[in-house]
Amino acid sequence: MRFTTAAFALIVFIVVSSIFVANLASLIGMDKQLSSRLEAALNEGHNQEHRQLRLDDGPGHLMWFLQISDIHISKYLDPTRVPHLVEFCNRTVDIIRPSVVLASGDLTDAKTSNFLGSQQHEQEWRWYFEVLHDTNVLNRTIWLDIRGNHDNFNVPALQARQDLFTNYSAQGRYHTRSYMQHIERGGERYAFIAVDACLDPGPKRPFNFVGMLSINETQHLFNLAEQSRAMGTNYTIWFGHYPTSCILTPGLGSGGIRNLIGRYRDAYAYLSGHFHTLGGAVPRMYTLQKEGFLELELGDWMRNRRYRLAAFDHGYFSFVDVQHNQWPVILVTNPKEAHFNIPEKESPGPVLESTHIRILIFSPARITECQVKLDTSSWKECIRISREFFYRRDLEKNHGWIVMLWKNATFILIMTVEVLLAAIFWHSYGLLAFIIAPLRAWSIVMNIILWQQSRYIPEKCLRSAATVWSSSEPKLSTLSQ
Ligand SMILES: [Zn+2]
Repeated sequence: MRFTTAAFALIVFIVVSSIFVANLASLIGMDKQLSSRLEAALNEGHNQEHRQLRLDDGPGHLMWFLQISDIHISKYLDPTRVPHLVEFCNRTVDIIRPSVVLASGDLTDAKTSNFLGSQQHEQEWRWYFEVLHDTNVLNRTIWLDIRGNHDNFNVPALQARQDLFTNYSAQGRYHTRSYMQHIERGGERYAFIAVDACLDPGPKRPFNFVGMLSINETQHLFNLAEQSRAMGTNYTIWFGHYPTSCILTPGLGSGGIRNLIGRYRDAYAYLSGHFHTLGGAVPRMYTLQKEGFLELELGDWMRNRRYRLAAFDHGYFSFVDVQHNQWPVILVTNPKEAHFNIPEKESPGPVLESTHIRILIFSPARITECQVKLDTSSWKECIRISREFFYRRDLEKNHGWIVMLWKNATFILIMTVEVLLAAIFWHSYGLLAFIIAPLRAWSIVMNIILWQQSRYIPEKCLRSAATVWSSSEPKLSTLSQ
C-alpha cells in the first residue's frame, strides 16, 4: 500500500488534536439529569444475574454477524469499490449468512473533483442504494447502516435536500439519528444500538473529524439502553462511525460515551470505523475499555477491503477481521481468543471446564474436512454439526474424574487432614466447642472458599503473584487456549 511519511504525520496530527479537543470538551461539564440517569443505570444493573451456560456440541446460544466500514463510494476514485461491494452483498453474505450486517459509516466519499473540498453527490448515494436493492441483500439479512462524517459533509440540517442518507440508506427513512435493532437467535436476545454522533449542521471538509452527541441525543441513547434492558436483552453491541475517543459528549463528564455504555451489563463491545487503521500504521486498533467493554475499530473497505465477522457463543464474544474474498473464513468461538476476554462479563470458568472446541467455518467451496491441533498434539478430526458449525471434543477432558482428582490433589489432601483433625476435636471436646472453635471447623469453610476462588480467579488478580511463578507456571490465558 502506498503510504507517505507526510500523510502519516498529518493523520497522527489530526487524530491527536481530535482526541485532545474531545477530552477537553468532555471535562467542561456534567449535566445533572444525565448524571442521575448514569447513577440509576448502574444501580439497576447491579441486580442483574449473570448466567453461565455450558459449552457443549449444541448449535444453540450462537449468533454471528458482519461489520463493514468506511466504504467511501466515490465518483472520482477507485471504480472497483462498488463492484466489490456487490460481491460482498451477494457472495459473502450468501456464504456467511449473517444475522445482521453493520455498515458503520462513511458510506460515500463526498469529495469534490480536486479532492480538496467536500460535496454530497447524489450519484454516489444512488450507487449505494442500487447495490442494496439490486443484490436484494436487505431481504437476506438485516442491514444496519449509520452515517459517518463523510455522509454528513455540507449537510445544513437533517432531512435537508443535501441529507441523502435519509432517502438512500437502508435505515435513514426509519430513523433520523441513533436507533436500536433487536433480534432473537438460538434462545438469546440481542440488541444492536447504532450511535449517530454526526455534527448538526454538518460542516465542510475537514471540520467534522470529531463527532458530538447533544444532550438530547445522549438522552435518546439512554432511552434505547433502558428499553433494551427492560426487554431482557442478553447481549448488546453498540456501534457507530466515530471511535469513542473522537466523540464529544457534553453533559456526560470526562468518561464521555464510555461512561454511558459501561453502565450496562449487557453491553459487550463498541464497534467503530473512521480511523482507517491510521493509514496502515495500526492495523489492529482494539482495546478493552476500563468501563468493561471492548472497543474495536475496523479497517476500511475503501482501500483495504476489510470486513469483520463477529459472534456470540454461549455468552462469549469473539471476532476476526478478514480481507474481502479471502477464504475460508474461520472463527474459533470456544475457547475464544483470551486477549479479548471481558473479565466482568465473561467468566473463565465455563471455558476452562468446557470439553468442546467450537468453530465457525465459511467457504465458497464445499468443506470436506476440519482438523484441529492443540499445542504439540497431532491433528484431530472435527465433527460437523451444520453447514458452518464444527466442534471437536477435547479428548483429554474425557479422563474426567482422574484428571480432576489430580488437579485438586493439594486441596483434597489438606481437606482430608482438616476433617480428620476436626473429627478428633469433636470427639474430645463435644459439639459446642467444635462449632465455635475457629481453628478446626472454620478452617474447613475457609478452605472450600479458597478452593472455589482459585478455580475462577481472573488473570488480572494473579499479576503480582505471577512474577514469582512466571518462570515455571503457565498463565491462565495460555491454559484456556
Ligand atoms: Zn472514512
